Amino acid sequence: MQKLLQLRLDVEEYMNVSMFENILAKKSNIDKNSLSYCVIKESLDCRKSPLYNVSVIVSNDNDLPNHKIAPLLDIKSNKSVIIVGAGPAGLFAAIKLLQHGIKPIIIERGSCIEKRKVDVANINRNNEINTESNICFGEGGAGTFSDGKLYTRSNKKGNIEEVLEIFVHFGAEEKILRQTHSHIGTDKLSFIIKNIRKEILLHGGEYLFDSKVVDFIVKDNTVKGVKIADKGEVYADKVILATGHSARDIYQLFYDRGWKIESQNFAMGVRVEHPQQLINQIQYHSKHPSSLLPAATYSLTCNANDRGIFSFCMCPGGIIVPSMDRPNTMVVNGMSNSLRNGEKANAAIVVSVKEEDAKQFHSYGTLSLMMFQQEIEKNMYIHKQIAPGQRITDFMENRLSSSLVKSSYIPGVESVDMNDMLPKFVCENLKIGFKNFDKKMRGFITKDSMLIGLESRTSSPVRITRDADTLQHLTLKNLYPCGEGAGYSGGITSSAMDGINIANKIIEQWGM
Ligand SMILES: Cc1cc2nc3c(=O)[nH]c(=O)nc-3n(C[C@H](O)[C@H](O)[C@H](O)COP(=O)(O)OP(=O)(O)OC[C@H]3O[C@@H](n4cnc5c(N)ncnc54)[C@H](O)[C@@H]3O)c2cc1C
Repeated sequence: MQKLLQLRLDVEEYMNVSMFENILAKKSNIDKNSLSYCVIKESLDCRKSPLYNVSVIVSNDNDLPNHKIAPLLDIKSNKSVIIVGAGPAGLFAAIKLLQHGIKPIIIERGSCIEKRKVDVANINRNNEINTESNICFGEGGAGTFSDGKLYTRSNKKGNIEEVLEIFVHFGAEEKILRQTHSHIGTDKLSFIIKNIRKEILLHGGEYLFDSKVVDFIVKDNTVKGVKIADKGEVYADKVILATGHSARDIYQLFYDRGWKIESQNFAMGVRVEHPQQLINQIQYHSKHPSSLLPAATYSLTCNANDRGIFSFCMCPGGIIVPSMDRPNTMVVNGMSNSLRNGEKANAAIVVSVKEEDAKQFHSYGTLSLMMFQQEIEKNMYIHKQIAPGQRITDFMENRLSSSLVKSSYIPGVESVDMNDMLPKFVCENLKIGFKNFDKKMRGFITKDSMLIGLESRTSSPVRITRDADTLQHLTLKNLYPCGEGAGYSGGITSSAMDGINIANKIIEQWGM
């Protein structure tokens, strides 16, 4: 017999297992010794003193839901699909194809995760940037060195549960299935991505690493395969293009060939770093919040001057990382480990950027916003991977910080006045945003908080347009633009969902 319980519990009642089980036994009238249970939803309500909202299925005969995914099959057809890009969009498309016995050939410009880890460490340790294997490029895609947040607002675009269950199948903790704001963490993601590779290879899928796609083989407006730099050509029945939003050479290729693309608004700003303890105190409304509580997060947004100003990719207990894919440019992003136990909290605070902001690049047409993004990344470069930094209080007053707060950013930070480096409209709107956020979270503007720039890779400045019914590119048949780089998703989960959607469409078109 199963029963659904909806509970509102204080932190100790939920986190202390024995206390929690006593409550379940009492509420369900099931003897504690024969009680089995499965928490299906968990969220933390911090509007006042923190309380957990928990939905639990309890049972006295162990008939609880299980979360098995459809198995990957050995290849059973002579059809194959090239997938360009081994990020969440590409990998989840590959998994779905193999669930139907269709061969994926995954072509990735970056390296396998083992080698990629060394390349990423080299950015921090030796200031060496491998332009093909870095925080943006390589097996697992852009979110591999991330907080691994799995929250998405795009729940109408696909099956979130399926994505989460696939992550659990490949090694993520089951708790991600129940948490409203679940995350995986960098330390666990690389292991999961390796498990995905092992199973794809086991069933006959193929991986080509260190293989940059530089062109498509096209006949009568139909894509037949791809050209790989220095490695020749690969042919398949269809091609999924899941190259992420940092593959500017792919956008350039489409532009040069006259294949349909559109420009797309994105957002730009800085990473803001606070002591995690301060964020905990603000969010949990207490000078000494319970140590049982997780590192607190926030999500802030406001509008001014017809623009959105918002926090993005908040990483509690995390670090700021160098995320450029080429030398002489500055881009940062954030990541956390699964425990989120670092001393700092960082988040992007960004301002929306529109086509009219990139007037000086209008001659580049649909690439004007991309050129603008690239230009600011160059302007923010100081030397090596040293990031420009400023205390938030000094930024608000337009003055250089005479000293900086210790940051989690390993290559080092140098004092600058962001007002001189960032576009004027970004600074003005950031200031409005910070004031607004300080009203919502008293203490947000503090001398103990630092701004570190530049946060520019929030979403794609270009969209590779596809047909709404067939999901194929508007001018190139058999090519399926997919994921964040194509402008159809933002974040790990929605990109994975888009990969699954594309694979499902191909399976449907083949009647398999
Ligand atoms: C540091 C960091 C932290 C992040 N944190 C989070 C987070 O916590 N939660 C979240 O939801 N999102 C996060 N994101 C965003 C998230 O990673 C992306 O939204 C997501 O990875 C997009 O998936 P994708 O598969 O569409 O593209 P990507 O993940 O960008 O993958 C594209 C892949 O294509 C490859 N590629 C590009 N061009 C070529 C080519 N010409 N030939 C062959 N291969 C090519 C790239 O090397 C890359 O591996 C973070 C991003 C970064 C950089």
